[in-house]
Amino acid sequence: EHFTDYPLGEEILRALKGLGYETPTEVQSKVIPVALKNKDLVVKSQTGSGKTAAYGIPLCEQVDWNENKPQALILTPTRELALQVNEDIMNIGRFKRIKSTPLYGRHPFHMQKAELKQRTHMVVGTPGRVLDHIDRGTLPLNRIAYLVIDEADEMLNMGFIEQVESIIQALPADRVTMLFSATFPDNVAELSRKYMDHPVEIEI
Ligand code: AMP
Repeated sequence: EHFTDYPLGEEILRALKGLGYETPTEVQSKVIPVALKNKDLVVKSQTGSGKTAAYGIPLCEQVDWNENKPQALILTPTRELALQVNEDIMNIGRFKRIKSTPLYGRHPFHMQKAELKQRTHMVVGTPGRVLDHIDRGTLPLNRIAYLVIDEADEMLNMGFIEQVESIIQALPADRVTMLFSATFPDNVAELSRKYMDHPVEIEI
């Protein structure tokens, strides 16, 4: 199996080659074809499985470069993961000139606000700071077509359930939602039941 088996544009394939990604990992081969069809997805997988690119590749493929407002929102439990995911997305989207903006706490709000005023295709952030931007009107949501909840179990363990639900409720209802988690305790299962539409379930 090769990335060229999927309906991916030349810019994305060239970026993957540059990153040294030759063959898809298991989670990627299961997720990418489904995500490219814009179906909701619930994925049980560990870190280190290549899950970031599993959603990063279809998101970079499907984002419209000409749209000025963010089209994808990725929620992560920590600032470290937000920065890592942001970097991975920028690498995958390099030749499509995809711009992704990380939003996390303990960092000047006004700098993030200024960055959000520039064209940004995707936003990767922790729930508290993302909600701050939503509340203060600095993060436009009306073009968000994709939501990724990464490390959902960690996020809920850290007490972010209320923020996550407030964010989801502020998003357009007409969107694709992908949830990734290593474990599925009741609160994670309930989140997917409540906010996802007949998701395809994938277990690695
Ligand atoms: P992740 O699970 O997303 O944290 O990815 C784990 C590591 O695998 C990261 O260092 C990625 O750069 C790398 N990686 C992801 N996909 C591939 C691939 N298809 N081939 C080789 N390395 C990969």
